Amino acid sequence: MPFLNRFQTRLSALLLPLLMRGTMALSSGLSAAHRALVWLDGQHPQLAQGAHALRQWLLRHPKTISATLATVLVAGGGGAFAIANLGPDIADQPVVSISTPVEVANLADQAQAIDQLNLNLIRTDLTRTSDTPESLLRRMGVVDTQAAAFLRSNPLAKQALQRSGRTVSAEVNGQQQLRQLSVRWLRNETDTAFQRLVIERTAQGLQATQTSAVLSTSVRMTGGTVASSLYAAADEARLPDAVISQLTDIFSSQIDFHRTLRKGARFSVVYEVLEADGEPIRTGRVLSAEFNNDNKLYQAVWFQENGQKGNYYALDGKSLRRAYLAAPVAFSRKTSGMGMRLHPIFQTLQKHNGVDYAAPIGTPAMAVGDGVVDFAGVQGGFGNVVIVRHGANHSTVYAHLSRINVRKGQAIQKGQAVGAVGTTGWSTGPHLHFEFRVNGVHVDPQSVIQQAQSTPVSPAAMARFNASVKYAQSQLQAAAQMRDTSEQ
Ligand SMILES: [Zn+2]
Repeated sequence: MPFLNRFQTRLSALLLPLLMRGTMALSSGLSAAHRALVWLDGQHPQLAQGAHALRQWLLRHPKTISATLATVLVAGGGGAFAIANLGPDIADQPVVSISTPVEVANLADQAQAIDQLNLNLIRTDLTRTSDTPESLLRRMGVVDTQAAAFLRSNPLAKQALQRSGRTVSAEVNGQQQLRQLSVRWLRNETDTAFQRLVIERTAQGLQATQTSAVLSTSVRMTGGTVASSLYAAADEARLPDAVISQLTDIFSSQIDFHRTLRKGARFSVVYEVLEADGEPIRTGRVLSAEFNNDNKLYQAVWFQENGQKGNYYALDGKSLRRAYLAAPVAFSRKTSGMGMRLHPIFQTLQKHNGVDYAAPIGTPAMAVGDGVVDFAGVQGGFGNVVIVRHGANHSTVYAHLSRINVRKGQAIQKGQAVGAVGTTGWSTGPHLHFEFRVNGVHVDPQSVIQQAQSTPVSPAAMARFNASVKYAQSQLQAAAQMRDTSEQ
């Protein structure tokens, strides 16, 4: 039947380009997903296995991808025919059934043919300390002794690949040969430009070129709800640790994350990511954030007055930088896992005057405000203790220290480590005993800290500040919506 033959030829002619385009799209999609996983891998090493599994699967099954696509296209084509048959007067039409034999074997052959074409795959990975040129190339699906020898001998390549954790992308042809390899890195964490080494196969063989280019900035927004811990919620939201530590730092004068963070607390955060050729290379600054904890809403927006250093402000324009920190121990992945411990020895002997922060021995004990050291040494049940005077009638006590870093009379700054957490004196385990004294009497630190004055945005900058608040509010709203949608 000439009609059927023609039909079959036309169908094949139609399917082949679709199949090729589909395969390209799918492989570039998969490689983008893989790049994202590799970045996450850098932020959260526990996800490394997932990225590894995907990479291995991609390496093993390029044919499966094409063949699966062929099946989808054939099924999709059938679907399209079925829909075309559904007219409004379908019930009045006589049913005509046409069955066309389609040689599926042909499609499988075509899928295989595509695999053998120059289907260049781009693979991205991070350098490891244990890497040799061969092991790095092998991980990226390259089997190319010439390329390995080049990486081993070229000074630029050697220098670019000597450090671990650098992002490497390789373009690999169907014969597992290297077509192009690029490495991107920062010389310093604060750089605004990145270094890029490109190794290319040319008619004269492999060639390496190193250039430098400006990082681009993109804005990310995300959020989470605290179910067990802030870090678990942050991992769930795929928030890099660098962003969580900025977040806890921004609110460090408002929220004592060790003691007052409640289950169900919700947060949203908008932050910058610096990218090198579209690949995230490091996290930037938090632009705005909000915390809804214990029915209280805390909001922050980054704002820079003309000619001054930038600062975080509440949305009413009051600076979030206060005279005191809410807690003398930084909130970190390490300290957040420690349960709060009571103080059995003191409690049975007398009323416990103070706040205890359980933390590993050696964790810095930070002065909560600027001041002068009043006492540094051993004092009875306190063990190693530092007492800091702040102004006329405020003082703070840091007890059970394993180490003392300061001496009497020394001027210290807010956040400076006066010593390290220990378990000296009457203590049952590693923790920092902290007291905030007003006229020599211990009071709830929160009550003092919240009363402390802060500098607001200057009247001259208020109009500009309000505009940035409006923008921040819409971004935070979007971040909260994303959080709520993903948690449903
Ligand atoms: Zn205590």
